[in-house]
Amino acid sequence: MALVVQKYGGTSVGSVERIQAVAQRIKTNVQQGNSLVVVVSAMGKSTDTLVNLAQQISSNPSRREMDMLLSTGEQVSIALLSMALHELGQPAISLTGAQVGIVTEAAHSRARILEIDTKRLSRHLNQGEVVVVAGFQGVTCRQDLEITTLGRGGSDTSAVALAVSLKANRCEIYTDVPGILTTDPRLVPEAQLMAEITADEMLELASLGAKVLHPRAVEIARNFGMPLVVLSSWSDDPGTKVTSPLPKPRSLDGLEITKAVDGVEIDTNQAKLALLRIPDRPGVAANLFNAIAEQQLDVDLIIQSIHEANTNDIAFTVAQDALQKAEAVAHAIAPALRHNPKSTEEAEVMIDNKIAKIAIAGAGMIGRPGIAAQMFRTLARAGVNIQMISTSEVKVSCVIDQAQCDLASHALCKAFEIDSSTLPITTSSSSSEVPAVRGVALDRDQACLAIVHVPDRPGIAAQIFGLLADKNISVDTIIQSQRSRIINELATRDIAFTVAQDDAQIAAAALNELAPDIGCGEITVDTAIAKVSIVGAGMVRNPGVAAQFFSALAAENINIQMITTSEIKISCVVAENQGVKALQVVHTAFGLSKKV
Ligand code: ASP
Ligand code: MG
Repeated sequence: MALVVQKYGGTSVGSVERIQAVAQRIKTNVQQGNSLVVVVSAMGKSTDTLVNLAQQISSNPSRREMDMLLSTGEQVSIALLSMALHELGQPAISLTGAQVGIVTEAAHSRARILEIDTKRLSRHLNQGEVVVVAGFQGVTCRQDLEITTLGRGGSDTSAVALAVSLKANRCEIYTDVPGILTTDPRLVPEAQLMAEITADEMLELASLGAKVLHPRAVEIARNFGMPLVVLSSWSDDPGTKVTSPLPKPRSLDGLEITKAVDGVEIDTNQAKLALLRIPDRPGVAANLFNAIAEQQLDVDLIIQSIHEANTNDIAFTVAQDALQKAEAVAHAIAPALRHNPKSTEEAEVMIDNKIAKIAIAGAGMIGRPGIAAQMFRTLARAGVNIQMISTSEVKVSCVIDQAQCDLASHALCKAFEIDSSTLPITTSSSSSEVPAVRGVALDRDQACLAIVHVPDRPGIAAQIFGLLADKNISVDTIIQSQRSRIINELATRDIAFTVAQDDAQIAAAALNELAPDIGCGEITVDTAIAKVSIVGAGMVRNPGVAAQFFSALAAENINIQMITTSEIKISCVVAENQGVKALQVVHTAFGLSKKV
């Protein structure tokens, strides 16, 4: 007999008929011998309706009263589902978050779960009852027993947290789509259902998958190794499995209070190669990385920041023993990359094998501004200069001087409370069964800000991103390229980053105020951008994935404005009006499209 936690979303319980259908499904499951805890969301769009009601009364309602209001939505659906089960002769009882004992922080409207008391749940389960639990809500543990909510979409998180606390065999998330698709089917009708995805890939695909599955739920599943599956409540199809490696055992206390950063990774076995002043036109990155891939060389970080006039710099890292070969390739290709024949500037190849890559990783940094800034500040205080920066949803990677590696890792472990004895020396290894690219995502609501000629000395990045964090602006991608210019006898570099379009003007204004202090050049804002990303754990040690990505874009004459990577993700910024096309061709290029 298996203990299973099931979660049904708003649409799945959106009407009387649907509630009855869900009840039937639950009963069948029980008859198959399973013990069930069922978490439900509010019916249909009823949470939105409640939000709307509040807005009619107050433009700024108190968070506490909002929680009081919104938590009622789920109370309706648990009671109705329980009644529907009774009608089918299935013993069941509904419980609110408070009745279960889902204890959260006292942070209204965005509470994280601290612990779940399983005594009452177990008692009902032992009596053969199905326990129907209100999702999205909890209670503070102080005497006051304040009702809290976990933030919109939080029922998924309730379900996985319950599964983990009950040591359930698995957690099933029932929704109105068949599972997780390789990309957004509204933009790419050929998108296919994934049979499986790792939790890490899912987190890197947050912008694609967050509507289907709350990232916090994925994080809990990953941290505790809970088998998770997303499937349709209308069919019996198997859906998508979200897999996690066997985790280190960890306590259930402070269940969701994970640290924003759960690992510091160092890799001293890397060397940096940069091509400077190459033309800013479609096909250049593709040519370069195709030539590299032909030599079976595996590229790790790739960074290209904003162009300068009509040239760009691309920098990348390879394993040290591959440097010689990679350098030969770069020299061989450089003449062909000569841009405007009238220009006197030549493409130039630069290498450095005295570098180290240092990265912080953790799902907790999603939606939490200031983590990157804290990393940069920590490095600055340790006197470590950052040569390059590349970020993804759950990782910030910096290239630094190899001689400063120990200093840097020590400082970061201390700042983020990471036990340095557990540090992995190199990063995740790949397994050949994993596809190189699992899914493709497009972000269209971002704007790119660029600051040119930022003085190249410790502390400047910390100042810039610290300021944005103070303004509560979440920075998405941060790119600091190789390009270095001497301005007024000072070495400078350019830093570019993306933020939500809504935040672009505030961010630009803040930076303009800061500019005189740090003595940087011009600040530009471009809202007409789109970011296309490929994600797949199999791209690790799999030469040619980047080349294939860039070639697909080049074939459509799409210019790559910026490139940033993590081990399992490569993102390109392109012009906004080419975003959808880019998504479509990349999806096809990696064989993800359904055959029609
Ligand atoms: N009903 C809540 C919402 O719409 C929680 C959930 O459905 O997950 O955000
Ligand atoms: Mg949802």
